Amino acid sequence: MKKPFVTKEKLEEIADVYPTPFYLYDEKGIRDNARELYEAFSWNPGFKEYFAVKATPNPFLIQLLREFGCGTDCSSMTELMLSEALGIRGEDIMFSSNDTPLEEFKKAAQLGGIINLDDITHIAKVEEAVGYLPETMSCRYNPGGLFKISNDIMDNPGDAKYGMTREQIGEAFGIMKDKGVKRFGIHAFLASNTVTNDYYPLLAKVLFELAVQLKEETGADIRFINLSGGIGIPYRPDQQKNDIRKIASGVKKAYEEILVPAGMGDVALYTELGRYMLGPYGCLVTRAVNEKHTYKEYIGVDACAVNLMRPAMYGAYHHITVMGKENAPCDHTYDVTGSLCENNDKFAIDRSLPEIEMGDLLVIHDTGAHGYSMGYNYNGKLKSAEILLKEDGSFQLIRRAETPRDYFATFDFCDILKKITD
Ligand SMILES: *Cc1c(COP(=O)(O)O)cnc(C)c1O
Repeated sequence: MKKPFVTKEKLEEIADVYPTPFYLYDEKGIRDNARELYEAFSWNPGFKEYFAVKATPNPFLIQLLREFGCGTDCSSMTELMLSEALGIRGEDIMFSSNDTPLEEFKKAAQLGGIINLDDITHIAKVEEAVGYLPETMSCRYNPGGLFKISNDIMDNPGDAKYGMTREQIGEAFGIMKDKGVKRFGIHAFLASNTVTNDYYPLLAKVLFELAVQLKEETGADIRFINLSGGIGIPYRPDQQKNDIRKIASGVKKAYEEILVPAGMGDVALYTELGRYMLGPYGCLVTRAVNEKHTYKEYIGVDACAVNLMRPAMYGAYHHITVMGKENAPCDHTYDVTGSLCENNDKFAIDRSLPEIEMGDLLVIHDTGAHGYSMGYNYNGKLKSAEILLKEDGSFQLIRRAETPRDYFATFDFCDILKKITD
Protein backbone atom coordinates (compact mmCIF):
# COMPACT_ATOMS: atom_id res chain seq x y z
CA MET A 1 0.00 0.00 0.00
CA LYS A 2 1.24 3.48 -0.84
CA LYS A 3 1.35 5.82 2.13
CA PRO A 4 1.66 9.59 1.93
CA PHE A 5 4.79 11.04 3.59
CA VAL A 6 2.61 13.52 5.45
CA THR A 7 -0.30 13.25 7.88
CA LYS A 8 -3.77 14.70 7.42
CA GLU A 9 -3.26 16.99 10.43
CA LYS A 10 -0.06 18.42 8.98
CA LEU A 11 -1.71 18.92 5.60
CA GLU A 12 -4.62 20.82 7.17
CA GLU A 13 -2.09 22.95 9.03
CA ILE A 14 -0.28 23.74 5.77
CA ALA A 15 -3.53 24.31 3.88
CA ASP A 16 -4.55 26.89 6.51
CA VAL A 17 -1.57 28.98 5.41
CA TYR A 18 -1.29 28.08 1.72
CA PRO A 19 -4.58 27.15 0.10
CA THR A 20 -4.87 24.06 -2.10
CA PRO A 21 -3.83 23.03 -4.62
CA PHE A 22 -0.12 22.91 -3.85
CA TYR A 23 2.89 20.71 -4.34
CA LEU A 24 4.50 19.33 -1.21
CA TYR A 25 8.05 17.92 -1.10
CA ASP A 26 9.59 15.70 1.54
CA GLU A 27 13.02 16.95 2.63
CA LYS A 28 13.86 13.81 4.57
CA GLY A 29 12.91 11.49 1.70
CA ILE A 30 14.97 13.53 -0.76
CA ARG A 31 18.03 13.50 1.52
CA ASP A 32 17.84 9.79 2.37
CA ASN A 33 17.46 8.84 -1.28
CA ALA A 34 20.34 11.03 -2.50
CA ARG A 35 22.60 9.66 0.25
CA GLU A 36 21.69 6.10 -0.73
CA LEU A 37 22.50 6.77 -4.40
CA TYR A 38 25.95 8.14 -3.56
CA GLU A 39 26.64 5.24 -1.19
CA ALA A 40 25.62 2.68 -3.80
CA PHE A 41 28.06 4.15 -6.34
CA SER A 42 30.84 4.97 -3.85
CA TRP A 43 33.00 2.21 -5.42
CA ASN A 44 33.47 4.57 -8.38
CA PRO A 45 35.68 7.45 -7.23
CA GLY A 46 34.47 9.94 -9.85
CA PHE A 47 30.77 9.20 -9.48
CA LYS A 48 28.48 12.18 -9.86
CA GLU A 49 24.75 12.71 -10.23
CA TYR A 50 23.73 15.62 -12.45
CA PHE A 51 20.15 16.28 -11.43
CA ALA A 52 17.93 16.66 -14.52
CA VAL A 53 16.71 20.20 -13.88
CA LYS A 54 13.72 19.85 -16.19
CA ALA A 55 12.19 17.31 -13.79
CA THR A 56 11.82 19.82 -10.96
CA PRO A 57 13.39 23.22 -11.63
CA ASN A 58 13.18 24.53 -8.09
CA PRO A 59 16.33 26.18 -6.70
CA PHE A 60 15.56 25.16 -3.11
CA LEU A 61 15.33 21.49 -4.06
CA ILE A 62 18.43 21.66 -6.25
CA GLN A 63 20.29 23.19 -3.29
CA LEU A 64 19.28 20.19 -1.17
CA LEU A 65 20.79 17.84 -3.74
CA ARG A 66 23.94 19.98 -3.93
CA GLU A 67 24.72 18.98 -0.34
CA PHE A 68 25.44 15.49 -1.61
CA GLY A 69 27.61 16.65 -4.49
CA CYS A 70 25.00 16.68 -7.24
CA GLY A 71 25.52 18.91 -10.25
CA THR A 72 22.84 19.96 -12.74
CA ASP A 73 21.88 18.49 -16.10
CA CYS A 74 20.55 21.35 -18.22
CA SER A 75 19.04 21.50 -21.67
CA SER A 76 17.89 25.07 -22.09
CA MET A 77 18.96 28.66 -21.52
CA THR A 78 16.80 29.12 -18.42
CA GLU A 79 18.01 25.88 -16.88
CA LEU A 80 21.57 27.13 -17.37
CA MET A 81 20.60 30.48 -15.85
CA LEU A 82 19.08 28.74 -12.84
CA SER A 83 22.32 26.81 -12.33
CA GLU A 84 24.30 30.02 -12.65
CA ALA A 85 22.10 31.74 -10.08
CA LEU A 86 22.82 28.91 -7.66
CA GLY A 87 26.55 29.40 -8.14
CA ILE A 88 26.89 26.15 -10.05
CA ARG A 89 29.80 26.38 -12.48
CA GLY A 90 32.31 24.39 -14.46
CA GLU A 91 32.03 20.63 -14.61
CA ASP A 92 29.17 20.66 -12.11
CA ILE A 93 27.03 21.52 -15.14
CA MET A 94 26.20 18.98 -17.83
CA PHE A 95 24.58 20.47 -20.89
CA SER A 96 22.64 17.60 -22.52
CA SER A 97 20.47 19.38 -25.05
CA ASN A 98 19.14 18.66 -28.51
CA ASP A 99 18.08 20.86 -31.41
CA THR A 100 20.24 23.40 -29.64
CA PRO A 101 20.27 27.14 -30.39
CA LEU A 102 23.74 28.69 -30.72
CA GLU A 103 23.33 31.02 -27.75
CA GLU A 104 22.76 28.05 -25.44
CA PHE A 105 26.05 26.44 -26.45
CA LYS A 106 27.66 29.80 -25.80
CA LYS A 107 26.11 30.12 -22.35
CA ALA A 108 27.03 26.55 -21.41
CA ALA A 109 30.64 27.16 -22.45
CA GLN A 110 30.78 30.50 -20.60
CA LEU A 111 29.75 28.73 -17.42
CA GLY A 112 32.44 26.10 -18.05
CA GLY A 113 29.84 23.31 -18.28
CA ILE A 114 30.39 20.04 -20.10
CA ILE A 115 28.74 20.12 -23.50
CA ASN A 116 27.18 16.80 -24.45
CA LEU A 117 26.64 16.85 -28.21
CA ASP A 118 23.44 15.34 -29.55
CA ASP A 119 24.65 15.34 -33.15
CA ILE A 120 27.83 15.38 -35.20
CA THR A 121 26.79 18.61 -36.96
CA HIS A 122 26.91 20.33 -33.58
CA ILE A 123 30.72 20.25 -33.52
CA ALA A 124 30.70 23.08 -36.05
CA LYS A 125 27.85 24.79 -34.19
CA VAL A 126 29.84 24.86 -30.95
CA GLU A 127 32.87 26.25 -32.79
CA GLU A 128 30.67 28.93 -34.32
CA ALA A 129 28.92 29.80 -31.05
CA VAL A 130 31.88 29.60 -28.68
CA GLY A 131 34.80 30.32 -31.00
CA TYR A 132 36.63 27.12 -30.04
CA LEU A 133 35.94 23.60 -28.77
CA PRO A 134 36.21 23.19 -25.00
CA GLU A 135 38.89 20.73 -23.84
CA THR A 136 36.28 18.36 -22.44
CA MET A 137 33.48 17.21 -24.73
CA SER A 138 30.86 14.50 -24.56
CA CYS A 139 28.74 12.79 -27.23
CA ARG A 140 25.33 11.21 -27.02
CA TYR A 141 25.05 7.74 -28.53
CA ASN A 142 21.99 6.11 -30.09
CA PRO A 143 22.50 2.45 -31.03
CA GLY A 144 19.23 2.35 -33.00
CA GLY A 145 16.94 -0.65 -33.07
CA LEU A 146 15.01 -1.77 -30.03
CA PHE A 147 16.41 -1.77 -26.51
CA LYS A 148 15.52 -5.09 -24.93
CA ILE A 149 16.04 -6.73 -21.57
CA SER A 150 15.79 -10.47 -22.21
CA ASN A 151 12.75 -10.52 -24.46
CA ASP A 152 11.10 -7.42 -23.03
CA ILE A 153 11.19 -4.35 -25.22
CA MET A 154 12.18 -1.48 -22.95
CA ASP A 155 12.12 1.29 -25.53
CA ASN A 156 12.70 2.09 -29.17
CA PRO A 157 15.94 4.10 -29.62
CA GLY A 158 15.72 3.63 -33.41
CA ASP A 159 12.63 5.80 -33.33
CA ALA A 160 14.08 8.45 -31.01
CA LYS A 161 15.39 11.81 -32.21
CA TYR A 162 18.36 11.77 -29.85
CA GLY A 163 22.00 10.89 -30.26
CA MET A 164 24.50 9.82 -32.91
CA THR A 165 24.83 6.57 -34.79
CA ARG A 166 27.78 4.27 -34.11
CA GLU A 167 29.63 5.56 -37.19
CA GLN A 168 28.94 9.19 -36.35
CA ILE A 169 30.18 8.99 -32.79
CA GLY A 170 33.47 7.44 -33.95
CA GLU A 171 33.85 10.15 -36.57
CA ALA A 172 32.93 12.87 -34.06
CA PHE A 173 35.58 11.68 -31.58
CA GLY A 174 38.19 11.66 -34.36
CA ILE A 175 37.30 15.16 -35.57
CA MET A 176 37.24 16.64 -32.07
CA LYS A 177 40.52 14.99 -31.13
CA ASP A 178 42.14 16.51 -34.24
CA LYS A 179 40.75 19.88 -33.22
CA GLY A 180 42.40 19.68 -29.81
CA VAL A 181 39.74 18.24 -27.51
CA LYS A 182 41.59 16.49 -24.70
CA ARG A 183 38.99 14.68 -22.59
CA PHE A 184 35.95 12.77 -23.75
CA GLY A 185 32.71 11.45 -22.37
CA ILE A 186 29.96 9.16 -23.69
CA HIS A 187 26.27 9.48 -22.91
CA ALA A 188 23.12 7.53 -23.77
CA PHE A 189 19.51 7.51 -22.60
CA LEU A 190 17.81 4.45 -24.08
CA ALA A 191 14.75 3.79 -21.92
CA SER A 192 12.58 5.90 -19.67
CA ASN A 193 11.01 5.13 -16.27
CA THR A 194 12.47 1.63 -16.07
CA VAL A 195 11.15 -0.26 -13.07
CA THR A 196 13.78 -3.01 -13.14
CA ASN A 197 17.26 -3.38 -11.69
CA ASP A 198 18.61 -4.46 -15.08
CA TYR A 199 18.42 -1.26 -17.14
CA TYR A 200 21.55 0.53 -15.94
CA PRO A 201 23.76 -2.61 -15.95
CA LEU A 202 22.68 -3.39 -19.53
CA LEU A 203 23.15 0.19 -20.68
CA ALA A 204 26.52 0.26 -18.91
CA LYS A 205 27.63 -2.82 -20.84
CA VAL A 206 26.70 -1.18 -24.15
CA LEU A 207 28.51 2.07 -23.28
CA PHE A 208 31.57 0.40 -21.73
CA GLU A 209 32.09 -1.74 -24.82
CA LEU A 210 31.65 1.34 -26.99
CA ALA A 211 34.19 3.23 -24.85
CA VAL A 212 36.79 0.50 -25.29
CA GLN A 213 36.22 0.49 -29.05
CA LEU A 214 36.35 4.27 -29.37
CA LYS A 215 39.56 4.43 -27.38
CA GLU A 216 41.14 1.82 -29.67
CA GLU A 217 39.83 3.45 -32.85
CA THR A 218 40.56 7.08 -32.08
CA GLY A 219 42.95 7.12 -29.14
CA ALA A 220 40.53 9.45 -27.33
CA ASP A 221 41.08 9.88 -23.61
CA ILE A 222 37.69 8.82 -22.28
CA ARG A 223 37.21 10.22 -18.78
CA PHE A 224 33.55 9.61 -18.04
CA ILE A 225 30.53 7.60 -19.04
CA ASN A 226 27.14 9.17 -18.42
CA LEU A 227 24.34 6.67 -17.86
CA SER A 228 21.87 9.58 -17.92
CA GLY A 229 18.32 9.23 -16.56
CA GLY A 230 15.75 6.52 -16.90
CA ILE A 231 15.70 4.77 -13.55
CA GLY A 232 12.02 4.70 -12.77
CA ILE A 233 9.76 4.66 -9.76
CA PRO A 234 6.80 2.45 -8.87
CA TYR A 235 3.82 4.64 -9.67
CA ARG A 236 1.45 1.73 -9.10
CA PRO A 237 1.05 0.21 -5.66
CA ASP A 238 1.69 -3.32 -6.98
CA GLN A 239 5.07 -2.39 -8.50
CA GLN A 240 8.37 -3.28 -6.85
CA LYS A 241 10.73 -0.38 -6.12
CA ASN A 242 14.14 -0.44 -7.83
CA ASP A 243 17.03 -1.45 -5.60
CA ILE A 244 19.78 1.11 -6.20
CA ARG A 245 22.39 -1.11 -4.51
CA LYS A 246 21.63 -3.97 -6.90
CA ILE A 247 21.68 -1.55 -9.82
CA ALA A 248 25.05 -0.11 -8.77
CA SER A 249 26.56 -3.54 -8.22
CA GLY A 250 25.31 -4.68 -11.65
CA VAL A 251 27.06 -1.65 -13.17
CA LYS A 252 30.20 -2.46 -11.13
CA LYS A 253 30.28 -5.99 -12.51
CA ALA A 254 30.16 -4.68 -16.10
CA TYR A 255 32.84 -2.09 -15.22
CA GLU A 256 35.16 -4.77 -13.88
CA GLU A 257 34.52 -7.09 -16.80
CA ILE A 258 34.89 -4.55 -19.59
CA LEU A 259 36.63 -1.31 -18.58
CA VAL A 260 39.17 -2.53 -16.03
CA PRO A 261 40.79 -5.17 -18.34
CA ALA A 262 41.03 -2.48 -21.06
CA GLY A 263 43.09 -0.28 -18.75
CA MET A 264 40.13 2.07 -18.23
CA GLY A 265 39.61 1.45 -14.52
CA ASP A 266 39.73 5.19 -13.77
CA VAL A 267 36.69 6.19 -15.84
CA ALA A 268 34.14 8.18 -13.83
CA LEU A 269 30.46 7.32 -13.93
CA TYR A 270 27.83 10.01 -14.15
CA THR A 271 24.06 9.88 -13.93
CA GLU A 272 21.40 12.42 -14.88
CA LEU A 273 18.51 11.15 -12.83
CA GLY A 274 15.39 13.23 -12.45
CA ARG A 275 12.42 11.03 -11.65
CA TYR A 276 14.39 8.73 -9.39
CA MET A 277 15.76 11.65 -7.34
CA LEU A 278 12.51 13.44 -6.61
CA GLY A 279 9.47 11.61 -8.04
CA PRO A 280 8.33 9.79 -4.88
CA TYR A 281 9.23 12.72 -2.62
CA GLY A 282 6.67 15.13 -3.96
CA CYS A 283 2.88 15.03 -4.08
CA LEU A 284 0.12 17.24 -5.39
CA VAL A 285 -2.35 18.15 -2.66
CA THR A 286 -5.84 19.06 -3.76
CA ARG A 287 -9.33 19.32 -2.30
CA ALA A 288 -12.62 17.81 -3.47
CA VAL A 289 -14.82 20.79 -4.36
CA ASN A 290 -17.55 19.41 -6.62
CA GLU A 291 -19.36 16.14 -7.12
CA LYS A 292 -21.43 15.15 -10.06
CA HIS A 293 -23.59 12.10 -10.69
CA THR A 294 -24.45 11.59 -14.35
CA TYR A 295 -23.52 8.55 -16.42
CA LYS A 296 -20.55 8.19 -14.11
CA GLU A 297 -19.58 9.37 -10.67
CA TYR A 298 -17.33 12.43 -10.79
CA ILE A 299 -15.32 14.13 -8.10
CA GLY A 300 -14.10 17.58 -9.12
CA VAL A 301 -10.96 18.77 -7.37
CA ASP A 302 -9.33 22.21 -7.21
CA ALA A 303 -6.25 21.08 -9.14
CA CYS A 304 -6.33 20.38 -12.87
CA ALA A 305 -4.03 19.16 -15.66
CA VAL A 306 -2.29 22.54 -15.58
CA ASN A 307 -0.86 21.45 -12.23
CA LEU A 308 -0.13 17.88 -13.28
CA MET A 309 -0.18 16.96 -16.93
CA ARG A 310 1.04 13.36 -16.90
CA PRO A 311 -2.37 11.65 -16.64
CA ALA A 312 -3.83 13.75 -19.46
CA MET A 313 -0.73 13.54 -21.63
CA TYR A 314 0.35 9.93 -21.22
CA GLY A 315 -2.58 8.32 -19.43
CA ALA A 316 -0.10 8.00 -16.55
CA TYR A 317 -1.25 6.38 -13.33
CA HIS A 318 -0.85 8.40 -10.14
CA HIS A 319 -2.01 6.81 -6.95
CA ILE A 320 -4.50 8.82 -4.90
CA THR A 321 -5.00 8.77 -1.15
CA VAL A 322 -8.09 10.33 0.38
CA MET A 323 -6.64 11.73 3.58
CA GLY A 324 -8.16 10.40 6.77
CA LYS A 325 -9.75 7.50 4.88
CA GLU A 326 -6.64 5.38 4.43
CA ASN A 327 -8.29 2.37 6.01
CA ALA A 328 -11.79 2.88 4.65
CA PRO A 329 -13.01 0.38 2.06
CA CYS A 330 -12.51 1.42 -1.59
CA ASP A 331 -16.15 0.78 -2.40
CA HIS A 332 -16.75 3.73 -4.72
CA THR A 333 -15.71 4.15 -8.34
CA TYR A 334 -14.86 7.68 -9.41
CA ASP A 335 -13.42 9.76 -12.17
CA VAL A 336 -11.39 12.43 -10.39
CA THR A 337 -11.40 15.49 -12.60
CA GLY A 338 -9.96 18.95 -12.90
CA SER A 339 -11.80 21.98 -14.29
CA LEU A 340 -10.25 22.36 -17.74
CA CYS A 341 -12.56 22.39 -20.73
CA GLU A 342 -10.85 19.22 -21.92
CA ASN A 343 -12.31 15.79 -21.31
CA ASN A 344 -8.85 14.33 -20.69
CA ASP A 345 -8.47 16.51 -17.59
CA LYS A 346 -8.83 13.55 -15.24
CA PHE A 347 -6.41 12.50 -12.51
CA ALA A 348 -8.09 9.10 -12.30
CA ILE A 349 -10.63 7.19 -14.36
CA ASP A 350 -12.86 4.47 -12.88
CA ARG A 351 -10.71 4.46 -9.75
CA SER A 352 -11.81 2.50 -6.70
CA LEU A 353 -11.63 4.89 -3.76
CA PRO A 354 -13.30 5.39 -0.41
CA GLU A 355 -16.37 7.60 -0.41
CA ILE A 356 -15.22 11.17 -1.01
CA GLU A 357 -16.94 14.06 0.68
CA MET A 358 -16.67 17.70 -0.30
CA GLY A 359 -13.68 19.29 1.42
CA ASP A 360 -11.70 16.04 1.64
CA LEU A 361 -7.99 16.43 0.99
CA LEU A 362 -6.60 14.21 -1.74
CA VAL A 363 -2.93 13.41 -2.08
CA ILE A 364 -1.84 12.60 -5.63
CA HIS A 365 1.33 10.57 -5.22
CA ASP A 366 4.70 10.53 -6.97
CA THR A 367 4.53 13.95 -8.55
CA GLY A 368 7.92 15.19 -7.32
CA ALA A 369 9.41 14.99 -10.82
CA HIS A 370 7.92 15.88 -14.21
CA GLY A 371 4.93 17.22 -12.27
CA TYR A 372 4.95 20.94 -11.56
CA SER A 373 7.55 21.49 -14.27
CA MET A 374 5.32 20.29 -17.10
CA GLY A 375 2.65 22.77 -16.06
CA TYR A 376 1.08 25.16 -18.48
CA ASN A 377 -1.62 27.81 -18.43
CA TYR A 378 -4.45 26.46 -20.55
CA ASN A 379 -7.87 27.94 -19.76
CA GLY A 380 -5.98 30.72 -18.02
CA LYS A 381 -5.46 28.43 -15.04
CA LEU A 382 -2.62 29.34 -12.77
CA LYS A 383 0.21 27.20 -11.47
CA SER A 384 0.24 26.27 -7.82
CA ALA A 385 2.69 26.90 -5.00
CA GLU A 386 5.48 24.49 -4.05
CA ILE A 387 6.12 23.84 -0.38
CA LEU A 388 8.90 21.95 1.36
CA LEU A 389 8.06 19.79 4.37
CA LYS A 390 11.23 19.95 6.43
CA GLU A 391 12.80 17.20 8.46
CA ASP A 392 11.77 18.95 11.70
CA GLY A 393 8.11 19.05 10.64
CA SER A 394 8.05 22.74 9.76
CA PHE A 395 7.17 23.83 6.25
CA GLN A 396 8.55 26.43 3.88
CA LEU A 397 7.16 28.07 0.77
CA ILE A 398 9.68 27.36 -2.00
CA ARG A 399 7.63 28.81 -4.86
CA ARG A 400 4.56 30.98 -4.52
CA ALA A 401 1.42 30.28 -6.48
CA GLU A 402 0.93 32.24 -9.68
CA THR A 403 -1.41 35.20 -9.59
CA PRO A 404 -3.36 36.79 -12.44
CA ARG A 405 -0.59 39.39 -12.61
CA ASP A 406 1.87 36.62 -13.58
CA TYR A 407 -0.54 35.34 -16.21
CA PHE A 408 -0.91 38.76 -17.77
CA ALA A 409 2.73 39.79 -17.30
CA THR A 410 3.56 39.37 -20.98
CA PHE A 411 1.32 42.36 -21.73
CA ASP A 412 3.68 44.62 -19.80
CA PHE A 413 4.62 46.40 -23.04
CA CYS A 414 1.16 47.98 -23.27
CA ASP A 415 -1.50 49.33 -20.92
CA ILE A 416 -3.68 46.17 -20.98
CA LEU A 417 -1.79 44.79 -17.99
CA LYS A 418 -2.46 47.92 -15.96
CA LYS A 419 -6.17 47.85 -16.78
CA ILE A 420 -6.49 44.19 -15.77
CA THR A 421 -4.46 44.17 -12.64
CA ASP A 422 -5.13 47.55 -11.10
C1 LIG B 1 14.71 13.93 -19.10
C2 LIG B 1 16.16 13.67 -19.10
C3 LIG B 1 16.78 13.11 -17.97
C4 LIG B 1 16.03 12.68 -16.75
O1 LIG B 1 15.16 11.65 -17.00
P1 LIG B 1 14.40 10.89 -15.82
O2 LIG B 1 13.44 10.01 -16.53
O3 LIG B 1 13.75 11.93 -14.99
O4 LIG B 1 15.44 10.13 -15.06
C5 LIG B 1 18.15 12.96 -18.02
N1 LIG B 1 18.88 13.32 -19.10
C6 LIG B 1 18.33 13.85 -20.20
C7 LIG B 1 19.18 14.25 -21.34
C8 LIG B 1 16.94 14.03 -20.24
O5 LIG B 1 16.38 14.54 -21.34
